[in-house]
Amino acid sequence: MNFNTPLLQLSGIGYTYAKRLERLNLFTLEDLIYHFPFRYDDFSNTTSALQAKIGESVTLQGEIWTIQNIYTRSRKIITKAVFNDGTSPIELTWFNSSWLTKQIQTGDRLQVSGKISKYKNKLSIIAPRWEKISNLPTTNYQLPTLHTGRLVPVYPETYGVSSKWLRTKIAQLLPQVLDEIRDPLPNPIRGEMLPLASALQQIHFPENWEQAEKARNRLGFDELFFVSLATQKARLEWSKIPLVKPFKINSNKLNQFIKKLPFKLTRAQQKVLQEITVDFKKDQPMNRLIQGEVGSGKTVVAAAAAYLVHLNNLKTLFMAPTEILAFQHFETLKNLLEPYGITVGIYTGSKKQLSRSAGDGQKRASPTRSRRSEAIEDARRSANGGEPAGPAQVIVGTHALLSRKLPTDNIGLVVIDEQQRFGVQQRTLLRKRAKIPHFLTMTATPIPRTVALTLYGDLDMSIIDELPVGRQQVKTYVVPEKKRLDSYKFIAKKVAEGDQVYIITPLIEPSETLTTVKTAKVEFEKLQKVFPHLKLDLLHGRMKGADKDTITKDFRSCKTDILVSTSVVEVGMDNPNATIIVIEGAERFGLAQLHQLRGRVGRGTKESYCLLYTSDVSSNDARRLKYLETTFDGLKLANLDLKIRGSGEIFGTAQSGRFEFKIATFSNITLLEKTRQETQDLLSKDPTLDKYPLLNAKLQDIASEVMPD
Ligand code: ADP
Ligand code: MG
Repeated sequence: MNFNTPLLQLSGIGYTYAKRLERLNLFTLEDLIYHFPFRYDDFSNTTSALQAKIGESVTLQGEIWTIQNIYTRSRKIITKAVFNDGTSPIELTWFNSSWLTKQIQTGDRLQVSGKISKYKNKLSIIAPRWEKISNLPTTNYQLPTLHTGRLVPVYPETYGVSSKWLRTKIAQLLPQVLDEIRDPLPNPIRGEMLPLASALQQIHFPENWEQAEKARNRLGFDELFFVSLATQKARLEWSKIPLVKPFKINSNKLNQFIKKLPFKLTRAQQKVLQEITVDFKKDQPMNRLIQGEVGSGKTVVAAAAAYLVHLNNLKTLFMAPTEILAFQHFETLKNLLEPYGITVGIYTGSKKQLSRSAGDGQKRASPTRSRRSEAIEDARRSANGGEPAGPAQVIVGTHALLSRKLPTDNIGLVVIDEQQRFGVQQRTLLRKRAKIPHFLTMTATPIPRTVALTLYGDLDMSIIDELPVGRQQVKTYVVPEKKRLDSYKFIAKKVAEGDQVYIITPLIEPSETLTTVKTAKVEFEKLQKVFPHLKLDLLHGRMKGADKDTITKDFRSCKTDILVSTSVVEVGMDNPNATIIVIEGAERFGLAQLHQLRGRVGRGTKESYCLLYTSDVSSNDARRLKYLETTFDGLKLANLDLKIRGSGEIFGTAQSGRFEFKIATFSNITLLEKTRQETQDLLSKDPTLDKYPLLNAKLQDIASEVMPD
């Protein structure tokens, strides 16, 4: 057994769990060990029932006096136990856990953790964590308990995989590989930080808060360090790649193109287009990132660039993260470029999916399916006469563009939209396949400058820091539960006036999982009852591409009034007629993310609204949401996010816009600067890192992220 052992092969995991763990993106033992808790419950206060104060989280050791299931009139099952630690009896209560009476019996010695409350004058703990202690040594300096009496790790979960399960497995497996862990950090760089093995031990099962913090520091440093190293090494390598033939820039034609646009380019758009033009005239391939707020108009800049490429008799590949976006871009680019005799084609995974679903037999061949398949086929035919994007000069697609089947000769430019949604390897692969042409990536994720220097050390940056004139500020309101019905009335009224609405269902887990989809479906059913006369549709990331496409198209062509969706799928969607976006459980999202979601509306001339539903308006989380009512600057909001959420208890996934960090947050600027310094020093001494095979191996890992099919 080692880090690379597939989870499926580990005894005690088995097929069912291995499948479930895949939903958390965990495939190997290493993945599992790098599945870090996102918080700890502090049950380290071991005390006695007599001394415990109401409202305090405590751990007690004692004996079960009685335990029984009680069936209430509403057919609920409550398990009640009387527990005595020798100072005062206390009541333990669990809901819907009737099996507990099989696991816990009168006379058992237990350690229990939970919050002390008082009910009908009796001390009690509701839903306590528990574990048996009869077998535990009395001097437990090694803290052998897992679920009680310590800082208890709480993990990102998925349906059928609880934190309790994860805790148990990690505690069992980690010690077996601890000896094999070799620290890739050279000693002088590691300095005072925890060695890797201890950091991994302490992040899961910290002895105390200080150790937990040290573990986070060390592992956070690693994340930033390796990314910094990877980007700087990439920059070094970039300077060595073959030269390209400089483009001829036909300013007259470009100006004509700009003049014919249905709007005037903003100053910022012009500036960025100018920067691209300058790059095109060089003999080094461009490697540029456009960062621009949602709705700032990045697509048209890329279209102008594609036009210049076409004037130099070369093709452009345009990769988008989802089929929805790919089709949207396909249509936009067709409108912009076809008048100049440029054929635009589309290449997504659907063809494959189509033939696959046909091969599946009758089961799936419902009438809707074939209607949907036709929609895609139509688009494909109109794009390129039925051929998969062969003769087109601008080819839009999803990661299907990475397919070996796509001819990639004469590519002059690769554009990657919403680049943060792709892995490093996918971008590199596309670039290689297209034989290193000019490379333009785009993102709407606001990135503070210091962060950008580390994460995008290999790229030149262009910023569109201006929205088109006349763009409406989206009126934003935090809506408490008691105003929900009023807001539904408002929505119905707006729809009656011809407007359309997005409803975003809450984010249950850091990424879209079955649980999230399930919640979305439940919400959808509820909403259908709320708006029985309106046409609603549901969109989520786990649907088939063709279905997604039909649903988005229906929404864009106003066939649907309300589009209910998860937060994941519709990044970048553009429907100017949608004027309201409702976000359920808004407190679960970061401010910057909410700002991006808000950018789905306010794209036309009509007044637009963002309604942030939250259950508890008085909580800190809801107060945080208030910033959105007055702040419309994505970067400011991102910085606020980091200040508020970047420290303390919540240290969930920080999205860098490029790499996913489990621990490191951008708020830790000092750490960022330190890592950048360290990597620069290291590379200047040893540009190929020959002296550091472990570091090199680690970089390979970063470069070989799993590719979606
Ligand atoms: P994003 O930068 O978020 O990708 P898009 O490229 O989708 O933004 O543009 C958003 C909308 O703004 C599109 O409908 C586009 O046609 C429009 N748009 C782009 N540039 C301008 C401009 N200079 N003036 C007015 N509208 C513009
Ligand atoms: Mg966009």
